[in-house]
Amino acid sequence: MRHLVIVFGDQLNMDSAVFDDFDPGQDRVWMAERRGESEHVWSHKARTALFLAAMRHFAAGLRERGYPLDYTPIDAPGPDALLDLLDQAIASARPQRLLAVRPGEHRLRAGLRALADAHGLPYVERPDRHFLVSADEFSRWAKGKTQLRMEHFYRWMRRRHDILLDDGEPLGGQWNYDTQNRKSFGRQGPGWLPAPMPFAPDAITRSALDDVEAMFPDHPGETGAFDWPVTRDDALQALTDFLDHRLAAFGPWQDAMWTSEPWLYHARFSTSLNLRLISPAEVIEAALSRYRQGQADLASVEGFVRQVLGWREFVRGVYWLAPERLLASNALGARQALPAFYWTGQTDMRCLREVITQTLRIGYAHHIQRLMVTGNFALLLGVEPAQVHAWYLAIYVDAVEWVEAPNTLGMSQFADGGRMVSKPYAASGRYIERMSDYCEGCRYQPGKAAGEEACPFTTLYWDFLDRHRDRFRHHPRAALQWRSLDRLSESQLAAIRERAGRLRESWKA
Ligand code: FAD
Ligand code: SF4
Repeated sequence: MRHLVIVFGDQLNMDSAVFDDFDPGQDRVWMAERRGESEHVWSHKARTALFLAAMRHFAAGLRERGYPLDYTPIDAPGPDALLDLLDQAIASARPQRLLAVRPGEHRLRAGLRALADAHGLPYVERPDRHFLVSADEFSRWAKGKTQLRMEHFYRWMRRRHDILLDDGEPLGGQWNYDTQNRKSFGRQGPGWLPAPMPFAPDAITRSALDDVEAMFPDHPGETGAFDWPVTRDDALQALTDFLDHRLAAFGPWQDAMWTSEPWLYHARFSTSLNLRLISPAEVIEAALSRYRQGQADLASVEGFVRQVLGWREFVRGVYWLAPERLLASNALGARQALPAFYWTGQTDMRCLREVITQTLRIGYAHHIQRLMVTGNFALLLGVEPAQVHAWYLAIYVDAVEWVEAPNTLGMSQFADGGRMVSKPYAASGRYIERMSDYCEGCRYQPGKAAGEEACPFTTLYWDFLDRHRDRFRHHPRAALQWRSLDRLSESQLAAIRERAGRLRESWKA
């Protein structure tokens, strides 16, 4: 055998560079489902099912095209760890080379290299054409910068790819339409919402769902509502559905939250992008063409492009700069255990109950639910970042480490000490009250910081500012926020500290 071509579960694109010179006469594709991949974090059932369903569909496509394929299903005997199985496969196939594109986790990348060395084989990592900037190009962009700012990167990417520019300057005169894009629904609520197109499980997807229920019965989450796109055709339909029905309203409502409305105007295709069923280039071009046709305004299209061309490429670049350092980071010295209710949704805090219950049901929460509800709470409480990371990697259907870890550890938990965001995303219950209807009917009051009725977010917010006063009081971007502490009297602060201590005690594992 010439090449053993390794395709991981999040590399399901036929235009991958590993297939460029594929010769069915002397090359073989290797794919495997292993339970270890669902167990190194306690993976949501729907997350595992999504990977298995998409992999099985992709494998069926490879077979149809006549590609020789070694595919190991999850219930086949053999080692539980993916790399242990690959080790056996290399020993029996004895290829001349191992071929892959960079895996989505540094753990797998390091393991692949070690395996190749152990077998005395060259490991060839082909360029990854999915992304619009390579890890090496990002690293050159980042060189010499002590702080990495998405906004600077995004402008560089807009210019590099000539997107939404007019003679080198931003179309409409602004790089950023955030002032138009951060609306809440107000008391009247969102009104009628276009339900996203569902993808009913076919026989292959059913087999994945059944296997997951049989093999991981005690894992978190449900599979009953599973209706994710699992093939490229599905993903293209999901993209058109978003462009037809939600893109035009994406911008203004991207930060808003509402009870029992998980999707609102969100794209719902991070899974399709992360599995590589569709590419960021085609998603961006499709949105731009809707703008050119006058079907969506600049604020919405720019807001959307910013997420895919900006944030998505930025976090990947940040991850690959120093993955081990990022994973070990804990700049704020947070040590609290993750409260058990993150795995059950059983809490009297209505916002957390709503977001976590939704997440357990469908494996999805939108960005602000992740950042300002579950993430914000963990930050304010002072949960150990590694535990927060393990939860996010386990619980979201779109979670792959290159995208999950920088979002969780860098953006949401400030564990990297501000390498990728200028100040912590810390907010009191007032923010959640403004951006959602969660506080209505909650037993707590978002405006209160102390006393039994006080919103735990608000108590912990002031306590967070207090605990990290020395670090941030002279910080160029955060000082204003920290100065608000000066408005509190010593007795108010004492009451807040006392209640924060009791709250922390009550959620100790
Ligand atoms: P939309 O809100 O409609 O956005 C459109 C697209 O933009 C998304 O599909 C996604 O590909 C991209 N995008 C938007 N924001 C980001 C971002 N911050 N980073 C990367 N891409 C972005 N996204 C993941 O794909 N996997 C994760 O594991 C993940 N973990 C996260 C953890 C935390 C703590 C936070 C705050 C965010 C995380 N995100 C993650 C980013 C974001 O929440 C999801 O991409 C988004 O909610 C997916 O839903 P959507 O497709 O409806 O996206
Ligand atoms: Fe959440 Fe506080 Fe609002 Fe209750 S009052 S829903 S705990 S923010």
